[in-house]
Amino acid sequence: MTPAQIISRKRDGIELSEEEIEDLIRQYADDHLPDYQMSAFAMAVYFQGMTTRETVVLTRAMLESGTTLIWPNSAIPKVDKHSTGGIGDKISLVLAPMLACCGLQVPMLSGRGLGITGGTLDKLESIRGFRTDLSTKEIVEMASRVGCVITGATNELAPADRKLYSLRDVTGSIPSEPLIVASIMSKKLVENLDALVLDVKFGSGAFMKTIDRARDLGRALVDVGTQMGVKTTALVTDMNQPLGRSVGNAIEVREAIETLQGHGPADVLELAIRLGSELLLTQKKAVNEKEAHRVQLRTITSGQAMAKFEEMVAAQGGRLGNLPLSNATMLVAKSSGYVHSVDNARLGNAVIQLGGGRHVITDTINHSVGLEILVRVGRQIETGQPLARVFADSDIEELGLDEAFVIKPAPAEKITLLHDRIH
Ligand code: URA
Repeated sequence: MTPAQIISRKRDGIELSEEEIEDLIRQYADDHLPDYQMSAFAMAVYFQGMTTRETVVLTRAMLESGTTLIWPNSAIPKVDKHSTGGIGDKISLVLAPMLACCGLQVPMLSGRGLGITGGTLDKLESIRGFRTDLSTKEIVEMASRVGCVITGATNELAPADRKLYSLRDVTGSIPSEPLIVASIMSKKLVENLDALVLDVKFGSGAFMKTIDRARDLGRALVDVGTQMGVKTTALVTDMNQPLGRSVGNAIEVREAIETLQGHGPADVLELAIRLGSELLLTQKKAVNEKEAHRVQLRTITSGQAMAKFEEMVAAQGGRLGNLPLSNATMLVAKSSGYVHSVDNARLGNAVIQLGGGRHVITDTINHSVGLEILVRVGRQIETGQPLARVFADSDIEELGLDEAFVIKPAPAEKITLLHDRIH
């Protein structure tokens, strides 16, 4: 079967065989298939979708386009978390050290900011000297020695995804569920994990705008993970207001540290613990949710999790001194009433405008800018009361941040963070 025939079969809605999908991905990874054919294939998948079997085969083919992490000690479970991305999502920074203190190893391969959502690697690079470019050998060595590591994927790990993702980005085929699933899962499964938990977000600050689409994506991710032999569960969570108070880079690292020190925002700790519980339970490190909660909370109250974070930062070359923060300007409410909604997309865009995110991949990040959101949906406020602190090096008038907060006279319901659990 030639590539043109395989593309035509997918275009016509025919289920592809294992050989057809593997051939296409292998040829693409080896530079034997031109970008124009791969982009036609991605567009055919966008319109026709894929069965679970096809998605599993695609994921495996992308995974096998490179190497995987080989662990010297298989007795310690390897686990990870993936979030589909949100505003103020600093969970990885709290969760990785917490889990490492609970007898699990966390080789976390993370990404950079994507669209309006921030990236864990960009945040960690606010720490002076922190390396996010560890080699495959260093990842294995540090995760084994420290218990956790957070770094970028190396060139040898799922190279087909890197190539295909860049192509999809410029050819309009990013929002295809099977392509998203194969992309996310191939990057996570190179870690050779025992268990994976997914935080699938929906709302104004998420990739998926509705809970139904988030549920579908969560189900597809869990199906593929499970079929590939990894205990996989997903939580569907609300992203209609920032997670925690801070949005940016250095400011989010600060908030993660505050959480590790036991005085961070309740929602950040709650979500980190709920995601961690999924992993502790599948790995039999706790007998029930209550014990999983207690074990993780103890790593915070005892100072162990913070010490583990410091150990990880030092191992990756970082020096935890003063984190950079620009000058603050207060944004105040222009009317009184109740906060009905927060336009998370506007907040994410404001951080990009301030220089804390990228318009194009080559942009450099200003780690010291960001937002501290001082109100939650449902909260009653008076005219003149602070809504947010804006840390900026430039004019903030243009950002239109006032419009990010919808204030109305009638009371508003608080937002529920956790919705579904998919397993
Ligand atoms: N994140 C990924 O890693 N891949 C996608 O395709 C979409 C989001």
